[in-house]
Amino acid sequence: MKIQNRIVLIFTILTAGIILSLSIFLYIFTSGSIASSFYHRLEVRAKLVGHAALQKDKSQTSIYYDIKEKHLGDLPYEQHQIIWKNDLKKADSLKKKLPLPQTFYDEIIRKQPARFFKNDTSYVGMNITQSGENIIVLSSAVDLYGLEEMENLKNLLTTGFLISLLFVFTFGKLFSIQIFSPIRRIIRNVKGISAHNLNQRLAVDSNKDEISDLATTFNDMLDRLEITFDIQNNFVSNASHEFRTPLTIISGESQLNLSDSGISETVRESFRTIFHESEKMEHLTNSMLSLAQTGFDGKKEKWEAIRIDELMFSVKETSDKIMPGNGVEINFDELPENEQKLIISGNETLLKAAFSNIVLNSCKYSDNKPVLIKIRADEKFVIVEITDQGIGIPDREMSQIFVPFFRASNTGKYKGYGIGLPLANNIIKLHQGNIVVDSEVGVGTRFIIYLPIEI
Ligand code: ADP
Repeated sequence: MKIQNRIVLIFTILTAGIILSLSIFLYIFTSGSIASSFYHRLEVRAKLVGHAALQKDKSQTSIYYDIKEKHLGDLPYEQHQIIWKNDLKKADSLKKKLPLPQTFYDEIIRKQPARFFKNDTSYVGMNITQSGENIIVLSSAVDLYGLEEMENLKNLLTTGFLISLLFVFTFGKLFSIQIFSPIRRIIRNVKGISAHNLNQRLAVDSNKDEISDLATTFNDMLDRLEITFDIQNNFVSNASHEFRTPLTIISGESQLNLSDSGISETVRESFRTIFHESEKMEHLTNSMLSLAQTGFDGKKEKWEAIRIDELMFSVKETSDKIMPGNGVEINFDELPENEQKLIISGNETLLKAAFSNIVLNSCKYSDNKPVLIKIRADEKFVIVEITDQGIGIPDREMSQIFVPFFRASNTGKYKGYGIGLPLANNIIKLHQGNIVVDSEVGVGTRFIIYLPIEI
């Protein structure tokens, strides 16, 4: 889960917990206070009824009832039961009629006021003593007003709880989006920086907070990276340049000696080997130079309109020179009728290096078995398919074949350096294209290269 969502969740759960606890506390407190006030009102009435019952003079009894009527009024469903001390039978039958717990009766016997609540009805029990005579009054009533109050309070608290949850969640979400927007901006900017534009830097906010610290730290790191990349790039470029001249001389000299008819067959064979090996070395140094250049600044190269079918012919020529006896064949069956669809915009030298590397790999890893090159096009791309019947690439290593200097585990008996494919990939990407590889060990490999048509 994203930190942004985690913060919203924690924020909402925490606030929900606090609001819920407060609501429960408020509900219990209010319900206790309403119940206690109702018990009190019921006890006052129970006392009046008890004293009225204990009056010997019946005119006095009616005075008590008058007072109750005028000043207190009746409570909803109000009922009173009087038990005289010596009327134990009535007490027993009452116990059966009113299924109240034993503790309630025990409290009355201990001469304490007893209270109990069951099925919306409040019960009180009291001992009333007057002029040495003692009676027990059991009174009950329903607090309709209190029950309604509590129901309203419950609805109010539930609605309030749900509405505040919605508010907290919405504001939490907006708040976290706002908090994380500078971080998202940094991520976007960092994603846009690659080896091609290492000179770019992140914008640093003027307010001195953690986010601006983070941006400054990234910028410092990019400074160090740029310097290291430049040193490495210059080294590879210089070394490749230095190798080029002696290699051209070796290849030229061996070619000159090959044309001499006076040399023996053994010497000729030896010069042929020197010539082939120096051609390979030249190809390798050119590849390294191109890799260094494309990896850092492809704009150094010249761009022009290129016909892909012509380019593939020249790739085949180079392959024939480097690997004589290869099985490369170009198939034109699916060539688009509209020639415009064969034209792309790019750098010929680089594209030739890229395609040569892929085609030469196919020849090498299939021991010169047939390699089929197909050219076709769709609406946006010209597509070149290079299929071989070679050793294939193990599935689990497929993701690494574009990593510089990586070589698959089944390439033991083949010579190589692991820079051809990364170079090809860099070049195709530089041309806004894409390479798709599909391979099966022991069956073969197919490279599908997509390059945008120039229209
Ligand atoms: P290398 O010099 O080793 O050929 P590359 O960079 O050209 O280096 O290729 C990287 C790796 O990709 C190779 O070592 C090989 O394992 C694999 N690979 C590339 N092309 C093929 C192919 N046509 N068939 C099988 N494996 C291939």
